[in-house]
Amino acid sequence: MKITELFGSNVFNDKLMKERLPKEIYKALHETIENNLPLRPDVADVVANAMKDWALERGATHYTHWFQPLTGITAEKHDSFISPVSDGSVIVEFSGKQLIQGEPDASSFPSGGLRSTFEARGYTVWDCTSPAFLKEDEAGNVTLTIPTAFYSYKGEALDKKTPLLRSMSALSKQALRMLRVLDNTTSMRITSTVGPEQEYFLVDKKFYSERTDLMLAGRTIFGAPAPKGQELEDQYFGAIKDRVSAYMHDLDTELWKMGITSKTKHNEVAPAQYEMAPVFATTNIATDQNQLVMETMQKVAFRHDLVCLLHEKPYAGINGSGKHNNWSLSTDDGINLLDPGHTPSENVQFLLFVSALIKAVDTHADILRATCATAGNDHRLGANEAPPAIISIFMGDELTDILEKISKGQKISARGKEFVHVGVDTLPAIPKDNTDRNRTSPFAFTGNKFEFRMVGSAQSISGSNVALNTVAAEAFDEIATRLEKAKDKNAEATAIIRETYKKHSRVIFNGNNYAEEWVKEAEKRRLPNVRNSVDALKAFITTKALKLFEKYEVLSHKELHSRYDIYVETYAKQINIEALTAVDMVKKQFLPAALEYATFLADSMATFQAVQVPDSVQADLLKKLSALVASAYQDLAKLEGAIAKAQAIDDTVKKAEAYRDNVVTSMAALRTEIDALEMIVPKDTWPVPGYTDLLFKL
Ligand code: ADP
Ligand code: MG
Repeated sequence: MKITELFGSNVFNDKLMKERLPKEIYKALHETIENNLPLRPDVADVVANAMKDWALERGATHYTHWFQPLTGITAEKHDSFISPVSDGSVIVEFSGKQLIQGEPDASSFPSGGLRSTFEARGYTVWDCTSPAFLKEDEAGNVTLTIPTAFYSYKGEALDKKTPLLRSMSALSKQALRMLRVLDNTTSMRITSTVGPEQEYFLVDKKFYSERTDLMLAGRTIFGAPAPKGQELEDQYFGAIKDRVSAYMHDLDTELWKMGITSKTKHNEVAPAQYEMAPVFATTNIATDQNQLVMETMQKVAFRHDLVCLLHEKPYAGINGSGKHNNWSLSTDDGINLLDPGHTPSENVQFLLFVSALIKAVDTHADILRATCATAGNDHRLGANEAPPAIISIFMGDELTDILEKISKGQKISARGKEFVHVGVDTLPAIPKDNTDRNRTSPFAFTGNKFEFRMVGSAQSISGSNVALNTVAAEAFDEIATRLEKAKDKNAEATAIIRETYKKHSRVIFNGNNYAEEWVKEAEKRRLPNVRNSVDALKAFITTKALKLFEKYEVLSHKELHSRYDIYVETYAKQINIEALTAVDMVKKQFLPAALEYATFLADSMATFQAVQVPDSVQADLLKKLSALVASAYQDLAKLEGAIAKAQAIDDTVKKAEAYRDNVVTSMAALRTEIDALEMIVPKDTWPVPGYTDLLFKL
């Protein structure tokens, strides 16, 4: 099939709706989608019927309300279209009601106390702004998949989609006020757009299945470094191996069928690490699609006898994986609000939006950081890896210079030309391309968008975008309010840009974010540097955060508290799984292997002695081995003690802190000895495949 025919062939998209729906129904549905109105039941019935007919033609037998609970992954329960009739046969049926609302048993999803058992019901409701599609599996099963929001009996959000939709409304409303006061009368809606670049590792399924840590925790908890790492820089953008290329081809095909615009694929920095980037889309759709991307990456890998690792740090000593969340603002009539314009008035608008975002990111750096806080991502943020846990913005030298000069009321020169500054009207053309493409900044302006690079590779991008949309909405609100009241809008605009820069320029940093000097400099600037998830998550329940999310009707106090509880609890659970896995592997695999080799050495010594040959090599090895085994055994006991103590704590936060302070550290201590043992014990005796197998045998 041609790519153009393949693309979107499994999506009930606009083209199909136009073809298959009566004109007035199509129009009504469109109005609903565009103006965020409730869907009329009669419209829903017709749409449902058309969807069903299409799905049945394509071989579907079931439909599912697909949703995104706070586990961070997606959930689905399949119902068949069949409905029995009195003569013992069945008809196929799919009503508007079934399309719009579902009621999965929600009692087993995390709710953080929002749902007591007597009101365990949860509802899924069709999000008609995200198209329905067909999911196919290798066995040929086809399921009509309907993107839905998920909430409790009392209307509290239990998922990642509901707050995202709410934050998009808030953003649109406030950004539109900015545009109106700046004399734009044509744009009707503003959406944030997102292009998430997804990093991942591939590993041979055979090796994966031999490692309990990879299977249960998604990362290697142990593992001595391979003799080669990423130091030759020969992997990044390197030629893609046939086996990987075959996988990527299959992945593209599956993604394209579901209407996902997989665009760019390449080798990443670490061995066996790769990246896929789609063309950007509306945040809501980009978020749904990124969930599908992660799921499809894993599914397709299996078909190729590979396993796709989405964990933020599968291997020590080489790069981890993240998700670069490219974020911008777009009007319904196609204007990118973060694109510097050609005329002075467009430039004022651009500088106001950029100023608002600088203010928003500086004011709520803690919240943005919190959205990236997971046990997995702790291995990246604040662990001397990309990017650091300190939020700063890269603006590029030229833009920074312009903002700096406006703030001081100085002349602005750009690209050699001098401009006299008598108000923002006379701004020079703002440089479009940021030549200095900083790769180390956690929040970089890249010409017409911001790139938020802290998001973890395994995370849903929803949380970060909820936060970005909401903090932006607040800043737009404040600036619009000032401009609406001003007599001289131009003067006020200049004042806003100047004041914002003066107050928030501390968050701008164009240098190397990995340098130790930056950490010190950031401390001087009083920028927060929170290195672990348990502390970072607290930013969700500060008075500042509670007020912010409530004011813009994105998350209520109760909803925020429940999320906080769930995330802290999840952290503790994840570390608990890792720690139990570590204990399991050491007891059942590594210690027995080490002792086996020790016995071999001892036997060998006896044999050598019997024939009066020097046995000093064996003696030396045995001494080292015994010492390592002894201290590993001690550290194993310490780890078990730490786990037992943490498990006994009831308070959610104290428990997570115990895992962070005692369990994580005990695991690390144990790893040192086990990895040293791996370097001594023969490969044949070592019970699991090592880093060379995992990273270099694809
Ligand atoms: P990089 O050099 O960082 O890989 P790319 O130019 O490949 O940058 O873009 C990365 C991502 O940014 C892509 O997913 C792309 O679609 C997305 N992107 C481009 N423009 C926008 C925009 N206006 N809003 C959101 N994302 C965008
Ligand atoms: Mg990028």
